[in-house]
Order: sequence, then C-alpha cells, then structure tokens
Amino acid sequence: MNVLMVGAGFSSAVIGRELAEAGHAVTIVEQRDHIAGNCHTERDPDTGVMVHVYGPHIFHTDDREVWEYVQRFSTFKPYENRVKSTVGGSVYSLPINLHTINQFFGKTLRPEEARAFIEAQAATHIDDPQTFEEQGLRFVGPELYQAFFHGYTTKQWGCHPSALPASILKRLPVRFNYNDNYFFHRFQGMPEHGYTALVEGILDHPGIRVHLETPFEAAMARDYDHVFYSGPLDGYFDYSEGRLGYRTLDFERFTHHGDYQGCAVMNYGDESVPYTRITEHKHFSPWEQHDGSVCYKEYSRACGPDDIPYYPIRLVDEKAMLARYVEKAESTAGVTFVGRLGTYRYLDMDVTIREALDVARGFLEHRRDGEPVPAFFK
Ligand code: UDP
Repeated sequence: MNVLMVGAGFSSAVIGRELAEAGHAVTIVEQRDHIAGNCHTERDPDTGVMVHVYGPHIFHTDDREVWEYVQRFSTFKPYENRVKSTVGGSVYSLPINLHTINQFFGKTLRPEEARAFIEAQAATHIDDPQTFEEQGLRFVGPELYQAFFHGYTTKQWGCHPSALPASILKRLPVRFNYNDNYFFHRFQGMPEHGYTALVEGILDHPGIRVHLETPFEAAMARDYDHVFYSGPLDGYFDYSEGRLGYRTLDFERFTHHGDYQGCAVMNYGDESVPYTRITEHKHFSPWEQHDGSVCYKEYSRACGPDDIPYYPIRLVDEKAMLARYVEKAESTAGVTFVGRLGTYRYLDMDVTIREALDVARGFLEHRRDGEPVPAFFK
C-alpha cells in the first residue's frame, strides 16, 4: 500500500515508521526545509549551542512504551526541568512548592503547616473550578495566584484567565515540599543530539521517503491509498468554516558571553513585562560546555494567517467551529487527521507519540479487517 503523510513532525514520523515496518511504502511531504516540526533543534554555528528553534521542548512521560520507543532512536541524557519565575523584583522557584511559599510569605513553614496556611487563603467555596482563575484561586489562594499565574497567563493567552478552562492550570502541580522538578513524570530526559536527530532516526527506514519544501496539495492524494494529515485541520478545508484560533510566539534572539541567567527557563509573572519568559538554550544540554550562550525572549500573540500556529486556544467560539470541521473531516474518505494541528489539541510530545503508535496500529487493524479507516482515532 502507498501512504502519504503530510508534515514531518513526531506524528508522521512515528506512524510512517510503524507502517514502513509493516511493509508499506510511505511518502512524507513537509512544507518547511526541515523535519521535526516545532520540536526542531539545530546547533548555533557561532556558539555550538543546541537551540530549540521553536521554543523549549522537554521530554517527560509516564508511558514506558513511549519512553522505550524514543530510546530506540536516540540516547537520552538525564534532564529535569527547574523553572524560575521573576515576580515583583524577586526570583522564585516553580512549580509553586514549599520554597516558593516560604519565600513569598517570609515564613519557615513545614509541609503540613504550609498546607493549612494555603488552605486558609484558598477560595474553598469553589467546589468544582471551571475556569483557570477559579482553579488558581481554589488551589493557591489570591496572592500566589495573582503573582504567579494571573499576569503570565494573561500574556500567554491574550485573554482574562476567567475565559480559560481550568484544565490549563491543572498541568502544573502545587507541592508542599522542596521538590522543584517542574514535571512529575517518572521518565524525563533530553535527546543527546537534539529532537531533529531523534526524528531523523525514526524516519531512517528504506520504506520512508521525505520531501522537504513540498506543500501539500489536494491533488497529491490521488496517487495514494490513504493520507495521514498532520497539518492544521481548518487548513485542509481551506478555512471554509473560519480560522481556528491559535497563539503564536515571537522569539527575540540574543547572545551572551558566559551564563546569562543561570537556568534554562526564567518566567516573568508581572504583566508589566511584555514577554512571558526567557530561555537560555545551553542549559537544556547541561552535559555540554559552551562559552557563548543563545537566549530567546518569548512573546505570545494572536496567530495571523502567515504565522506559525503554536497553542490551540479552544475557547467557546473555537469549539463550535471545531465541531463543524470534525463533521467535515468525518465525511471525508481516505484521510486520517493526526497530531496537534490535525486534531486541534495541545499535545505534549509523549502523548503525540502514544497517539501515533495507536493510530498506526488501529490503521493496520482496520485494513486487515477490511473496514473503512476513520478520520480520527480518538
Ligand atoms: N502558567 C502561569 N505562570 C507560569 C507558568 C505557567 O500562569 O509561570 C500557566 C500558563 O497559563 C500556562 C499554563 O500555566 O499556559 C501551563 O503551564 P506550562 O508550563 O505547562 O505551559 P506550556 O508548556 O504549555 O507553555
């Protein structure tokens, strides 16, 4: 069978690999001049620093199969994300932990004392928080919420946190101990030679051909038995129902001799600071030594037609529009929509890979049983 995959990020690479290993011929078209999508990394020629070109990506998962899968294609170095936040002229530790609480309130509380102290401030009358703001007020109380979440989130999403779903904040833990690891997953690390080398490893199979700088055109589909589309869902239908909302990022790049900020990620919680965070890329590869440094000052704004989409917004308007696109997709035969852009969901890398493995297996089963392949596997 001949399969066409649109986009050369993790979704296409993993599905393509699984299908190629099952004996199918896989062609991938990618409009950019590189693979790996927004996970793309490249070495800065001047400093030698591995740069996360579209912003920081840190691999973390609880899914043992996914963890073993990525390690087939790259060695991983231990990496734990320790994020700081500058707020009101002080530097604090994130996610909110006992150090953050004690520093912020000028106290020396032990875990159970801190839990009771925060609970006394929390908006406990909110039983079932629906919005980002309610979730913040319920779990950390107004002062910490205001300092660490309100300004950052307003900048990041371009709207009031009361318009955002609670699920966005549920990504972050609150800890009553001194553990400042940003993630709670068992497996965490960084691919030694960057994400692009990892994706290259996945694509390195005689059954897979990749064409860069090749935008997808509907007519291409005629030559294939099935299409997996990981581009924007609304783009596939020429935006007939309108444009799904995304946030895009602008990176103001600068270099520095030495160590600019002493950590990989420094968030800026104050709304008066126009950027959300500064990332210093050499700290994502702590096993390497570089004198020079490459930093990105990160700004978030509404995504225009010519910008790169990053975060799906999924507010009420988008949900109604999304439902119309899903209906269209479901009545389109021969195409399966995958990944962050194809399904309009904010996906971490490990979830993208898990879903891609499941899609590939589901596809092979449907073909074996002679059933039509669905537009979405979720
Ligand atoms: N967030 C915040 N302050 C911070 C870090 C995060 O308010 O210092 C909010 C913000 O709305 C963000 C969400 O928490 O979108 C989830 O954070 P995460 O670090 O997972 O952001 P992402 O990796 O999606 O950029």
